Amino acid sequence: MASPLYRNESPGQLPKSWYVATVDMPPERPPLYGHKTVDVCIIGAGFTGLSAAKHLAQKGLDVVVLDAHRVGFGASGRNGGQVCTGFNMSQRLLAQKYGKDQAAALWALSQEAKDDIRRICATDVPDARFTSGVAEAGCTAAEVEKYHRDAAYLNDTYGYDLVTQLDAAEMQALVKTPQYQGGILDMGAGHIHPLRYVLALARLAEAAGAQIFERAEVHHIEQGDPAEVRTDKGRVKARHVILAGNGYLPNIVPKVSAKIMPLNSFIAATEPLGDRAAEILARDIAVSDSKFVLNYYRLSEDKRLLFGGRPSYRLGFPKDVKTVLAARMVEMFPQLQGVGIDYTWGGTLGITVNRLPSIQRIAPNIVSGSGFSGHGVALSGLTGKVMAEAIAGQAGRFDTLAQLKGPSYPGGVAFRAPLLALAMSWYALRDRLGV
Ligand SMILES: Cc1cc2nc3c(=O)[nH]c(=O)nc-3n(C[C@H](O)[C@H](O)[C@H](O)COP(=O)(O)OP(=O)(O)OC[C@H]3O[C@@H](n4cnc5c(N)ncnc54)[C@H](O)[C@@H]3O)c2cc1C
Repeated sequence: MASPLYRNESPGQLPKSWYVATVDMPPERPPLYGHKTVDVCIIGAGFTGLSAAKHLAQKGLDVVVLDAHRVGFGASGRNGGQVCTGFNMSQRLLAQKYGKDQAAALWALSQEAKDDIRRICATDVPDARFTSGVAEAGCTAAEVEKYHRDAAYLNDTYGYDLVTQLDAAEMQALVKTPQYQGGILDMGAGHIHPLRYVLALARLAEAAGAQIFERAEVHHIEQGDPAEVRTDKGRVKARHVILAGNGYLPNIVPKVSAKIMPLNSFIAATEPLGDRAAEILARDIAVSDSKFVLNYYRLSEDKRLLFGGRPSYRLGFPKDVKTVLAARMVEMFPQLQGVGIDYTWGGTLGITVNRLPSIQRIAPNIVSGSGFSGHGVALSGLTGKVMAEAIAGQAGRFDTLAQLKGPSYPGGVAFRAPLLALAMSWYALRDRLGV
């Protein structure tokens, strides 16, 4: 089976996305050569690994980050940019599963996740343009009712009053498709330019003293105290190791791979729409909908529609991403018929069986954080911060997140993808049939 690091990718190359076209990519950092001894070695330079690196280095620890490709190469540099509220499970359900106190602690963490991004954008990365407002749109009356019930629960339980409930007419005035029957507008959530944000996290981590090596694929971890992390050209002896490779991490630690399914998602950026942008979205918000094969989209700063969806559950990227996404986009917005598409790209995220993050202690000195299941823009940075706290000796919040860990995928690493593809095709068919 091809490594998830290279299955759809060329070494060290970020995809030709609208994001890459709108940043100044820094020069490549060198690979790791020779031996190093550090306090913490982090595998993966996305939101999770770089947030951990920044917090650990700020605490005075000696930190090395290794990425097989480049900073921001993974999902962090190519996602939909939606900074979502909460987890991929309603707070009501979390309270039923884990009790009210734990649910409240999880809610506080998820709020902190968004606050951190908003603050870092304001102070260090204004060009990541944190913009408030995410609409969640329901395609059926039952889905709309669920959104409204969950919004009322958040208000009643946590005093979260940033959500407006929308009926069909209000939703269609905001998001101009007849497909939606209502939903919510959450002004506590938002959207960012994710590549600018992740590049800035790397700068902040380096400014605090962390060292980052690119094109440094880790192919083996020798557990022990210290652990030894090996790449082709070098080795790092570390008192602690953090695994932050998410959907791209090859099967080098079976306890992690068993819990994480790599899933591909794709985005198309139209040509700039100019005044026509207002025929799609009345405000500068992001949208995601309740379809099982969900659509997520928003406008870019130059008024392109960045339209995301998941047309494929195979591990390899399909060849016709542009055609499939264009068809889905026009199905939602017939007014875009004939509009040019300037960029398409795909990426791999990690999902879990229970759609909650999988935060694990693999060994006394090795922790892992992944499987954010589509809520990683907000939750991954927070997870990095909480893993840093655990390494510094305060494991309370780590344990709160670690309790979310779900079961392993049936079928093991070899068969989890075909089994999921089968299940997903069934649900996608239900979407198309509207049942
Ligand atoms: C197309 C797309 C759209 C998305 N949209 C949203 C959204 O709108 N909102 C949201 O909340 N979430 C979204 N997500 C998910 C979100 O982007 C991820 O949850 C988040 O970025 C995960 O960050 P990470 O740092 O854990 O992993 P990544 O950003 O994937 O980084 C992992 C890094 O680890 C490196 N790595 C892996 N294995 C090794 C190894 N053995 N040696 C060295 N390096 C290694 C990889 O090269 C990679 O750079 C989306 C994902 C995709 C793909």
